[in-house]
Amino acid sequence: MKDEIRRSEKQHTLGELAASIAHEVRNPLTVVKGFLQLMEGEDERHKNYYPLILSELARAEHIISDYLNFAKPEFKKLETFSIAELVVDLSLLLNPYALKEGITLFHSIDSDAEMTTDRNQLKQALINIMKNAIEATPKGGRVSIKLFPEEDQAKIIVRDTGLGMSKEQLSNIGSLFFSTKEQGTGLGTMVSIRIIESMGGKVEYASKLNKGTKVSVTLPLNKLADEEKV
Ligand code: ADP
Ligand code: MG
Repeated sequence: MKDEIRRSEKQHTLGELAASIAHEVRNPLTVVKGFLQLMEGEDERHKNYYPLILSELARAEHIISDYLNFAKPEFKKLETFSIAELVVDLSLLLNPYALKEGITLFHSIDSDAEMTTDRNQLKQALINIMKNAIEATPKGGRVSIKLFPEEDQAKIIVRDTGLGMSKEQLSNIGSLFFSTKEQGTGLGTMVSIRIIESMGGKVEYASKLNKGTKVSVTLPLNKLADEEKV
């Protein structure tokens, strides 16, 4: 018990530190980007470098936003929303990306459940999971997201027909910086698991090499709202 308390205190401090570092680093990046955009086109000799510099800056910003989410697991902005609507939103949001990669996105919804939590955090967690599914799937493949009730919980299953994972990769999933991608950060899965667990839910991975991966997300429903009713 004591250890648990100490550990959560430590995470809180680390979280605050990471959030302030992310914030501080973002400011100079924005300034650099602004000046680069001003300078673009001034010197013909360097014109080929600008897209590269700007895309590397975008990559740095991307890594920092993963960190910011990682750093802020507290759910301050609570709202009550329909999980089904969130799943539809996600499909619409990710459809252009899937199409660009030659992948068909499917969604199936069998729940009118509502949840009270930070909607954006949950959205971020599911985006990370869906993006991984799309990135793991070769052209012509499919990624599906399914929502259905299970006892007093909501279940979301994301399936892909992609590369799958070996036993070893599967055991590493969710570890900080674990990535098999050339440009990977190894943060997405960790952030997703952390967000969903902070909401009292859980994330499970099942995978077969060269067949695909199934990610099962279990979410508790309106616990908070029920408690308030009492
Ligand atoms: P990144 O996407 O930057 O590599 P993540 O934390 O999102 O970092 O994912 C970590 C690793 O987990 C990936 O590099 C990949 O090896 C593996 N992974 C996650 N989801 C899947 C999936 N749906 N299919 C196959 N591998 C996956
Ligand atoms: Mg990822």
